[in-house]
Amino acid sequence: MAGEQQADCLFCKIVAGEIPATIVRETDTTVAFRDINPHAPTHVLVIPKAHYPDAASLAAAEPGVAADVLREAGQVAIDEKIVDSGYRLVLNTGSGAGQTVFHAHAHVLGGRGLNWPPG
Ligand code: C5P
Repeated sequence: MAGEQQADCLFCKIVAGEIPATIVRETDTTVAFRDINPHAPTHVLVIPKAHYPDAASLAAAEPGVAADVLREAGQVAIDEKIVDSGYRLVLNTGSGAGQTVFHAHAHVLGGRGLNWPPG
């Protein structure tokens, strides 16, 4: 069924506590944890607890939870004190765009200058 945990999904295992992660925030519907391979001084991933392969499919099925992910990303930015300097939210979608984990997630990147356009 849509949104159900997937046995072979890395981020479902983080939600279940089966793989360690440095969790910075958690709500009923979301978890935020530090990226294991950070690309900026702040690099946090915000994920829905429910399994959807990408942000668009999450938003289509559970728009309220998609909004929770975005709100939590904003709260991470406040907690990390990167709002004033600016930060970036990234939703890589598809392997051609660099998505490697097919459980919806938002990258929160900040704490350094960020170039535009991205590579
Ligand atoms: O957008 P993309 O799918 O490439 O992002 C997946 C992210 O998950 C990567 O930045 C990777 O470093 C991170 N990751 C993690 N902890 C894991 C496995 C992957 O933070 N155990």
